[in-house]
Amino acid sequence: MRILIYGGSFNPPHLGHIRSVQTAAAALRPDLTLLIPAAIPPHKHLAEGTPEAGHRLAMTALAAGEIPGCEASDMELARTGPSYTSDTLRILHERYPGAELIFLMGTDMLLTIETWHEPEVIMALASLAVFAREEGHEDEIAAQAEHLRERYGAVVYVLAGEPVKVSSTQVRALLPQRLGRGYLTGDVYGYIIRHRLYGAKPELAWLRERAYACLKPTRVEHVEGTEAMARALAERWGADPDDAAEAAILHDCTKKADRDGQLRICEKYGIIPDKWELENGELLHAKTGAAFAAAEFGAPGPIADAIRWHTTGRPDMTLLEQIVFLADAIEENRRPYPALEAIRKAAFRDLDAATELCARRTLAYVRERDLPLHPDTARTREYYLKKLEDRGAVPIPWDGP
Ligand code: ATP
Repeated sequence: MRILIYGGSFNPPHLGHIRSVQTAAAALRPDLTLLIPAAIPPHKHLAEGTPEAGHRLAMTALAAGEIPGCEASDMELARTGPSYTSDTLRILHERYPGAELIFLMGTDMLLTIETWHEPEVIMALASLAVFAREEGHEDEIAAQAEHLRERYGAVVYVLAGEPVKVSSTQVRALLPQRLGRGYLTGDVYGYIIRHRLYGAKPELAWLRERAYACLKPTRVEHVEGTEAMARALAERWGADPDDAAEAAILHDCTKKADRDGQLRICEKYGIIPDKWELENGELLHAKTGAAFAAAEFGAPGPIADAIRWHTTGRPDMTLLEQIVFLADAIEENRRPYPALEAIRKAAFRDLDAATELCARRTLAYVRERDLPLHPDTARTREYYLKKLEDRGAVPIPWDGP
């Protein structure tokens, strides 16, 4: 039996790791491949902001899922103290008597292996397999392999293949900039975004694809328009345009659900609908959308709140909340309604006046159709009216439909 063992921080596991394992598996044909995240790596510090061990194990398991015969093992995470490879190999040697253990590593690890704890034990218990992290490492690898063979009697397999030049450190730096997806498997990237590990923010193209899949096809245009308008308003008023876009992309993510569907989502996320929402299930998509966006896409508080208040508004909204509330109402694809043009113009001139008029128009619309009026809209209108009055500003003239 042949067991390929790959240890590392896997913080997070990236395509460089996967390429390495795939190349090794194709060349060495192991019966089992184990990816073993280290609890406390002896030769490097876990970077600040490293997620808890359970997350690294979960991501490693997702990465392992890409490779046939590959599993993630918690054997180092379950131990206390530094995760010495020699200890891991002793355990595996006992667990699989007679098996050939092959320890896979990249260039950096091969070059430093003599500084590891009990290198002679490692090379006695396991063969080494090395895959270059970058092109041009071949000579260094060949020389070190020769040295280890001579000094320790090590068996070293040098693997050939095209490396993926990336490190977890680079990926961690890219993720908060809405980049880095191309270095990760889809599952690992989705996991990172869902849990917002490493301060990650989603690439907007990726988010659109997933958010649009939750919409009725006829709603996509509206969401596209809301994103464009939210971005324009954010640029005008000094909010983060990408955060505004993210909230807009997600703002209607549960809108497709009918009343029963909304109530099921409420139950799932522990949302208690108020009496107006029970009367008019439409209203619920703001609350359910915020909960869904947070749970499925890791939307952080300010973005989830912008989704939460986009339908009724609320007094004293944050800038982002106000932007999404207005963008939803005035985006370019909206069917014309009375006051639309006035709100659109005001949104770029006086955000509070636009908000007051938008809420006033909703009140008129709801009254006209005899729909249940949610008091949050009335409160929003009162709040922004008073804010305008306090400033000595005049509300935008509009006499209703
Ligand atoms: P960090 O940037 O956090 O130091 P890393 O990218 O070096 O992380 P580790 O999880 O620490 O990744 O490495 C585990 C093993 O994977 C090591 O043997 C390392 O040499 C190897 N390795 C990492 N990146 C690559 C890569 N791009 N190609 C080949 N091997 C790699």
